[in-house]
Amino acid sequence: MKAYLLAVIICMTLVFTSCADSMNNADNYVQISDNYRNYYEIFVRSFCDSDGDGIGDLNGVSDKLDYIKEDVGADGIWLMPIMPSPSYHKYDVMDYYEIDPQYGTMDDFEKLIEQAHNRDMKVIIDLVLNHSSHLNPWFREAVAGLWDDEENEYTHYYNFTDQYVGSGYTKVTDKYYYEARFSPDMPDLNLDNQKLRSEILDIAKYWIDHGVDGFRLDAVTSYYTGNETKNTEFMKWLNDSVKEYKADAYFVGEAWTTQAIIAEFYTSGIDSFFNFPFSQAEGTIVRNLNTQKGGKLAEAMGSWNDTIKSFNGEAIDAPFLSNHDNARSAGFLMRNLCKKKMAASIYLLMPGNPFIYYGEEIGMTGSGNDPNKRLPMLWSTRNTAGITDIPPEANQSITELDGVDAQMKDKNSLLNHYKKVLALKKRFPQIARGQMKALDTHNSELCAYTMTYNNSTVVVIHNLSGNELSEDLEKHGLSDMKVKGSLFCDTHNRTPRIVKGKAILAPNSTTILE
Ligand code: CA
Repeated sequence: MKAYLLAVIICMTLVFTSCADSMNNADNYVQISDNYRNYYEIFVRSFCDSDGDGIGDLNGVSDKLDYIKEDVGADGIWLMPIMPSPSYHKYDVMDYYEIDPQYGTMDDFEKLIEQAHNRDMKVIIDLVLNHSSHLNPWFREAVAGLWDDEENEYTHYYNFTDQYVGSGYTKVTDKYYYEARFSPDMPDLNLDNQKLRSEILDIAKYWIDHGVDGFRLDAVTSYYTGNETKNTEFMKWLNDSVKEYKADAYFVGEAWTTQAIIAEFYTSGIDSFFNFPFSQAEGTIVRNLNTQKGGKLAEAMGSWNDTIKSFNGEAIDAPFLSNHDNARSAGFLMRNLCKKKMAASIYLLMPGNPFIYYGEEIGMTGSGNDPNKRLPMLWSTRNTAGITDIPPEANQSITELDGVDAQMKDKNSLLNHYKKVLALKKRFPQIARGQMKALDTHNSELCAYTMTYNNSTVVVIHNLSGNELSEDLEKHGLSDMKVKGSLFCDTHNRTPRIVKGKAILAPNSTTILE
């Protein structure tokens, strides 16, 4: 509210300048201070190397905040793990209170946070609570005690047993085994232990004190493998306890599972869960895009949003196309520019917080082993500035793709499409925040829905077909709507228009009506 008042005051004082005009268009957009954001997922190691040692780092991220905010249009970042770790991916943490020296220092981190906040961008970090590294001092001390058959303060941070339980357990002394479901290097933490829970709260508070706005929770289905009730209970405890300390902290959970389980997890109060069922090659978005079933897509979106809001009225869906564990979307979209643009328009304009995996906005490719999905950000194909070394064991390279520098200059590029979609979305807070209702259209290729927020309604219509289509607005009670924006695959397409109560929609396009 304060920011809005300030904008009004500035406009009043500059009434003879262009500011008065801009009140009517996108330029006067004021960030609403809630937890709705367009997030950009960053694998720091592969993003931008600021000091030339081949490893991406936090100063490299700071250097690219203007790119993320101004050229892509995202206003939040998720940093994949930044804490000290023996692995290249860093999902096995050795010290929950430090920055991995490969990535920089705590000073670098605080500078990054400050620069992000100066741009009104939120920063969330990965919090890996299912397991630690086997090199974490907690685990080493616990094991040292077991050799002497003595319990110490870390013994119950993990799940030790003196008999072999089955797969997922690793022998550690002459007598004991420990639970480690992902890998022997990643011992599972015992989240029932009250001392560990209090340590987890200390960790969350520590990073909040260093300026983070929230956390991405890794592997939440594995907290208590196969026990969704206990997983939900733990997340509820974490959510309630952390929000007692910082009421507006934002959580997004990685629950790579079914809609039914994700819906149940929303009862924990965790703000968002990644929308895995809509993501990737076989997910709801791409399946319906490929078969041009727009109506089915809108219905699925409406139904999913109704479901999650019925479990938590404040739920924020978190749609995405692919992430660091998935084949990159450009590959399963057949490197087809029009498909990539349509897929982007769809997930970025779904209700909630979309997550853009770094490089997705330029159509980077990568599939097969994990390192191939995490290749160096292609800032340029001519200039190596900022470009990192490839991750160990990657055996693919990116070919026939323009880098960021060339795509910024090409108005038809995927990068400029992302920028257009997110600029358009910013003009309509209803799209992220509103109550969604799918429209049952005359054309099955149209994915059409209304979003209503603060008594104001916008209509989003994606035409998934290669033909111009016409849809009667009167039938939907929307005859007083006007075209407020449009997005195309092909810049030569005619803009959408309303003729005699009918919306005329260009092939492979998106239209916003208000
Ligand atoms: Ca570096």
